[in-house]
Amino acid sequence: MIEFFPPDIFEADHDTLFDIVRAVGTGPEQRFILGDATARFEKELAASVGAADAVACSSGTSALTLILHAMGVGEGDEVIVPAYGCAPLASTVVNLGATPVFADIDPRMLVIDPSDAEACLTERTKVLLPAHIYSVMADMPRLLEIARRHGVRVVEDSAVAQGAVLDGRPAGLWGDAGLYSFVQVKSFGTAGEGGAVVTDDSELARTVRMLRNHGQDGRHRFLHHVIGHNSRFDEIQAEFLLHRLPGFPARLERRARIADYYAERFGPLAEHGLLAPPPGRNGRCYYVYTLLTERRDALRDHLAQRGIAAHVYYPRPLPAQAAFAPYAPAGRRWPGAERASRCTLSIPVHPLLTDAQVEHIADAVCAFATGGPGTDR
Ligand SMILES: *Cc1c(COP(=O)(O)O)cnc(C)c1O
Repeated sequence: MIEFFPPDIFEADHDTLFDIVRAVGTGPEQRFILGDATARFEKELAASVGAADAVACSSGTSALTLILHAMGVGEGDEVIVPAYGCAPLASTVVNLGATPVFADIDPRMLVIDPSDAEACLTERTKVLLPAHIYSVMADMPRLLEIARRHGVRVVEDSAVAQGAVLDGRPAGLWGDAGLYSFVQVKSFGTAGEGGAVVTDDSELARTVRMLRNHGQDGRHRFLHHVIGHNSRFDEIQAEFLLHRLPGFPARLERRARIADYYAERFGPLAEHGLLAPPPGRNGRCYYVYTLLTERRDALRDHLAQRGIAAHVYYPRPLPAQAAFAPYAPAGRRWPGAERASRCTLSIPVHPLLTDAQVEHIADAVCAFATGGPGTDR
């Protein structure tokens, strides 16, 4: 069986992980959160992408919340989010008392459609919140231009795109602030939870730092300058991520090479109704490799029969979810998001795949699309 996420993701790091747990657990300071390791990790993370600052916090969702909160997003404000993607895009907005306004996505790139995002702007819009998804970065140049023209801020949900670069500028540094998620399944996942805010705006970073620890400034305990959250960072995770950071570019490169190979094999399948993600390296992250086909469920079954796990991410557009229905204007449709929900299937692209496994996956997809021997078409 070829798993979608590697079951042995941290096997080579087990000894280090146990050493870290022992060192932090028995350290003389007994400091388990927001200590020296967190500070070092923030410095190295910021340096790795060239950000002025990075603030580590408890998750990607929390990072998004802290940014929006620091920008003063609250009751009466609207935040434009993609109609297709993960729940935190809308739930963080709702949990701050603001209203998510769903813009449709580009049917091919699956990221927010800048024209529709612009059409969603009102005088109550405070933030434009695009997200990079699967292997594709949002059209940040156009979105920034729109945001500037209308005087709204841009929060870049770069949770899945750490290490990606568009036109020479890293994912996370396009908006007023960006974020990364370190949950296990993400490209820079850890053995647990974590996230970070990255920004060049030092004032915003200062506020985010206070908000992550109950509005304290890090120097005076029990002095609360603002109402904050508990989104502190764990020292064990900080040490483990410091250990994993130098190997990250090589793991990303392996993902990109697998994607290059897939792109070569799958390009010709367009005439058979199966679309691969746009190839190349500019603005690509290869967190997840996602195909588009009207016969999505049949392809998933076909792959399962050949021992290949595939995932359907986001089987419904966000406004079609029960949770967000109150924020879906009656009669509004999101054709791009609806089609994506029906047609996307993600196949394994993790860096521990062997060449033989990658070839097997590509063979299986090609056989399905061209209806060659062994398909059930
Ligand atoms: C994973 C993800 C998040 C949330 O990150 P967590 O660490 O799981 O809270 C937010 N936005 C996007 C686009 C994500 O993929």
